[in-house]
Amino acid sequence: MLRTITKVKDLPFNTIEKHLGESFYLFDVEKLKFNYCEMLTAFKSRYSNCIIGYSYKTNYLPALLEEVQELGAYAEVVSRLEYDLAIKIGVNPTKIIFNGPLKTGEDIALAMKKGSILNLDSFYEIELVQDYARGNKNQTYKVGLRAGFLLASEAGEPEQCGYTQSRFGFCVENGSFKRAIQLLSYIDNVKVVGLHGHFSTKTRSLEVYKEITQQLCKLSKEYIPTSVEYIDIGGGMYGNVPAEMKVKDVPSFEAYAEVICAVLNKEKSYFANDPFLILEPGLSIVVDTFTFYSKVIDVKKKRADYFVLVNGSIHNIKPTMHDINLPMEHIKKDDALYENGIYNVVGYTCMEKDYLAIDYVGTIPKRGDYLAFSNVGAYSIVFNPPFIKERPAILSKVKEEYKIVRKKEELKDFINENVYVFR
Ligand SMILES: *Cc1c(COP(=O)(O)O)cnc(C)c1O
Repeated sequence: MLRTITKVKDLPFNTIEKHLGESFYLFDVEKLKFNYCEMLTAFKSRYSNCIIGYSYKTNYLPALLEEVQELGAYAEVVSRLEYDLAIKIGVNPTKIIFNGPLKTGEDIALAMKKGSILNLDSFYEIELVQDYARGNKNQTYKVGLRAGFLLASEAGEPEQCGYTQSRFGFCVENGSFKRAIQLLSYIDNVKVVGLHGHFSTKTRSLEVYKEITQQLCKLSKEYIPTSVEYIDIGGGMYGNVPAEMKVKDVPSFEAYAEVICAVLNKEKSYFANDPFLILEPGLSIVVDTFTFYSKVIDVKKKRADYFVLVNGSIHNIKPTMHDINLPMEHIKKDDALYENGIYNVVGYTCMEKDYLAIDYVGTIPKRGDYLAFSNVGAYSIVFNPPFIKERPAILSKVKEEYKIVRKKEELKDFINENVYVFR
């Protein structure tokens, strides 16, 4: 039914409305492939031993996961649920990177048995690794450690939310990291083969990545020079940031690759073999692959201010409810005359905070128009709570082909009867 559309601008909103309702996401598959290849090429051309592990939690739409899997990406997961999802997508367990602060003994045993890349975050996990390894003495196992250290380049405020330190990993400064290495060295059939250092910083700057890479190389040289197989610098990089969002100093993939690979090329001679560089992008490769379309239901004036009500919510586009306006396109229903002005776009919930755009300057929408918010591919799909209304459908677009990759929820999905108990 949707296979004859020619241009995104010409989306047949009437047909879509009939099948999917008055709001939906559009997933641009080619943009995803482009981003992935752009990142991989930037790094591989400078340091060939490079692996991309896609961060599942950033957006785990199965149609997207299947694409990244086909592109050759590893799966970076942070829970057993995500691990099982990767298996369901068809990812080879040896291409799953299992991170995250919480893993059960069963999770750890499974990852070890299947040969997944396992990065430990706390001491309790070392005990679980030991239990499994001791029970399977005829096998040898490899693990990695997440290292936690302060980033001088972030001036003691390394984390996005203003925390003075990251809560993750084994602390280098107080000796926990050294102790973890020591404890693991007592287990005969376990080897530490990799170090992990993911940080979500405010600046996402080149300086940050230079420092992470340098620190991980330094720790590898000191503690695991003969066994190191990978250095995993995590994700957290910028992706495409549209000019409207007014963010300064956004490095390109090339620029990130330049500083990171320079460190590795300098340090690799210290190691028995060239370690793999693992990248764990989430946001940077998916953020600009989704657009949210929402129909204008009414335009209300209160005092002097315009409130444009759409069939959508802030939860659909900005789960963190920040107040930076996303790039927005006004799709007019016809050629009628439009006035210019300042307006707010508000959603269907009963929260005062439900603004999809604030003080937006442009042509004032009319009933029946559509507003399209772009750059919503990271964290919005996975962070959309089942609050007040069902979640919208997702259409994927490859060249001129459109496909429904997530149906609009109905009551039976919203309150899933496999989960909720009715009398
Ligand atoms: C969330 C996360 C990522 C991805 O982060 P982005 O900011 O989306 O690139 C990568 N690695 C780990 C361990 C994560 O927790």
